[in-house]
Amino acid sequence: MIKTDIAIIGGGITGLWLLNQLQAAGYSTLLFEKAGLGQGQTLSSQGMIHGGLKYNLAGVTSNASETIAGMPDIWQQCFAGEGPVDLHNAKCLAQSYHLFSDAALGGKLAAFLGSKAIRGGAKALKHLPEPFDHPEFKGSVYEIPDMVIDTATVVTALAESAGNSIIQAAPTPVCNGGSGIVRLTLPDGTAVEAERYIFAAGAGNEDLLRQSDIAVAMQRRPLHQVLVRGPLPTLFGHAVAIGSGDKPRMTISTHKTKDLQTVWYLGGDLAETGIHRSGAAQIEFAKNELERFLPFLDIFDYEFKSWRIDRAEPKTPGTLRPDRPFCEKAGNVLVCWPIKLTLVPLLAREVLKHIIEPSKWPAPSDGYLKATVGEAPWDQSF
Ligand SMILES: Cc1cc2nc3c(=O)[nH]c(=O)nc-3n(C[C@H](O)[C@H](O)[C@H](O)COP(=O)(O)OP(=O)(O)OC[C@H]3O[C@@H](n4cnc5c(N)ncnc54)[C@H](O)[C@@H]3O)c2cc1C
Repeated sequence: MIKTDIAIIGGGITGLWLLNQLQAAGYSTLLFEKAGLGQGQTLSSQGMIHGGLKYNLAGVTSNASETIAGMPDIWQQCFAGEGPVDLHNAKCLAQSYHLFSDAALGGKLAAFLGSKAIRGGAKALKHLPEPFDHPEFKGSVYEIPDMVIDTATVVTALAESAGNSIIQAAPTPVCNGGSGIVRLTLPDGTAVEAERYIFAAGAGNEDLLRQSDIAVAMQRRPLHQVLVRGPLPTLFGHAVAIGSGDKPRMTISTHKTKDLQTVWYLGGDLAETGIHRSGAAQIEFAKNELERFLPFLDIFDYEFKSWRIDRAEPKTPGTLRPDRPFCEKAGNVLVCWPIKLTLVPLLAREVLKHIIEPSKWPAPSDGYLKATVGEAPWDQSF
């Protein structure tokens, strides 16, 4: 039998961030991860810490853009070692990203960005960086001062500072008739009793909720991303077109595989609309989008793969994107989904509001198999 103040299930960004903040607040906390740390949505994400601009592309100040505006500052503090968690050993992939248009939109984009109260200050670029510095590039490029994080190094930093509190196991909750849970049972039969249980298992929350008889519903919003491997320039940016609503037509981020090859990871509207396309059709679609925005890039012989992953969130009417991070109490369980990486600091604030009892149990001693960091899509695909 293990006794701890708080037991967290799920070792993505949510579970790891909460583990660090709860330990710093003096609670004995254990985290259980069934696979590799981060190997759900976190390592599949594009790592952009949005300051609201992406959510303002439709020209309206939505609840989402209000909520998200303060987040980049908190992340910056964490990277400086002065925030609610210490990320000074983690890396940023970029301190800004680009918003770029195709030739058809060029002039209109300037008018559009100039006419809206765009939060975050998009700056028009006169001296274009690679790959836009090509004579055949006819669109416009803006720079957005929001960072892009290297999620694998963030997961590693959070795991390292949490010491021996991360256990490789998928626990089963023992139900208490819908008002919380009595304990967790590990696959080797060990019982884990905690004052509070936190479900931070992304899509895995669905099973945990069913096993615990807790009436919180989850939705999945699937994505069909595309990866391109080859000697590509570094690019972080949203390709936009007026009329594509509040979603960039295509979002490109650049990553290195473990053997240091460059991969472009393509998401945005392309990934949302591509969920019904086969892998081959999705790759064809992505090639056409690249041809439309960056026609001079000779990359069509590079290696392309597609990657399916679901976003896991609380259920909303019409399966829309929720505006805020989700933290709901059901007896002694807190059910959490951050909605975006960006919003994890806000989610942690909500969780801490629910945990105000003094610590009761000392940190459990070691002796369990420690979960290690998982693999990103670019290391699994090629
Ligand atoms: C393609 C894509 C791109 C994205 N890009 C961005 C972006 O640029 N910016 C941004 O802000 N957000 C982005 N997001 C959203 C962001 O990635 C997620 O909101 C965030 O990673 C969710 O983190 P999480 O820890 O809650 O869940 P996850 O990362 O899914 O982690 C859940 C963990 O729980 C584990 N688990 C599951 N079941 C169990 C169990 N029974 N027992 C133990 N462990 C279990 C899983 O193995 C996993 O490690 C993106 C998401 C996707 C899918």
